[in-house]
Amino acid sequence: MRAALFEAPGQPLVIGEVEAPQPQPTDLLVQVKGCGICGSDLHLSALADRSSGMAPLTPGAIMGHEFCGEVVEVGAHAPGQWHEGDRVCALPYISCGHCVDCVSGRGHRCREVVYSGMGNLGGGYADYVRVGGAEALALPDGVDFRAGAMVEPLAVGLHAVRLAELRPGDGVLIIGAGPIGLAVAHWCRFFGARHVVISDLAAGRLAKAAALGATDGIDASTEDVVGRYKQIAGRRAEVVFDCVGVAGSQQLAMDYAPANGRLVIAGLCMQQDHYMPVKAISKELSVQYVYMYERRDFELALEMLDRGRIDPGPMITDVVGFDAFSAAFEGLKTPSEHCKILLDPQA
Ligand SMILES: [Zn+2]
Ligand SMILES: [Zn+2]
Repeated sequence: MRAALFEAPGQPLVIGEVEAPQPQPTDLLVQVKGCGICGSDLHLSALADRSSGMAPLTPGAIMGHEFCGEVVEVGAHAPGQWHEGDRVCALPYISCGHCVDCVSGRGHRCREVVYSGMGNLGGGYADYVRVGGAEALALPDGVDFRAGAMVEPLAVGLHAVRLAELRPGDGVLIIGAGPIGLAVAHWCRFFGARHVVISDLAAGRLAKAAALGATDGIDASTEDVVGRYKQIAGRRAEVVFDCVGVAGSQQLAMDYAPANGRLVIAGLCMQQDHYMPVKAISKELSVQYVYMYERRDFELALEMLDRGRIDPGPMITDVVGFDAFSAAFEGLKTPSEHCKILLDPQA
């Protein structure tokens, strides 16, 4: 099968031919129909050592954890009622399935977990991917493969908003109009935020934000964020989301928050960072870090997609085949107006 192979940190992915994965008895083999490029893959592909706590990729690794596709093989003991031809997405890992974490929908906490797109479990930047029968979720009829590939990033946003404990009528400020920021905006609107304001350094990204639930955008390259937010909402935002995850972005969130405000740190910062604690202390800020999602986040995202209550369509800015995939991946390393680019192996 074809796959986009990691060769070395910082080097472009190389499209090559490799053996298709061998499903285990409890697995499904899925033909990939869509797989999003995630910011965390960009980070991962640049990682040269373990200083961030994450292991660098080994040569030949296949990334991609935002995938969906069609079942082409069902393991003899795969849990669930799966058949060839079923349309599925999946939690991007395979775990033991019976420990407390697995049973509660947090298989990524399982001691035996292996992640799709890392280590030796190949991900969705390929024609085929191995999926655990217990980790697969059926795509309802109303969810096509484009939307199916958006379930994972939508679940990231949903989980962040769930942990934000948003109250109806809250004002929200989201730092960063990338895929996570836009997914967060979508769900904040969905759950009744009064103001959903996104700040970003790229004006082009803000235009997209409006289609995805943001009520206003602030161009942080030219505008004073706090001043502008107050102009819009009459006061500071009750909840501030850091959806950037670079050194300095948590400090910004602290600066933007009001006294007794809530911060939700959703951006995956993999560098050393410095901040001034007294800012957060004197404001008595509550800080919530968020990571990944739970199975129920996938389930709700799928159901709301099926019923047409959410539409991630505007987040998808391009769909490419293998021929253009490596260049598209490289292109996302520099800031642009792209949001989510999907690989469609059949394109
Ligand atoms: Zn992702
Ligand atoms: Zn487990």
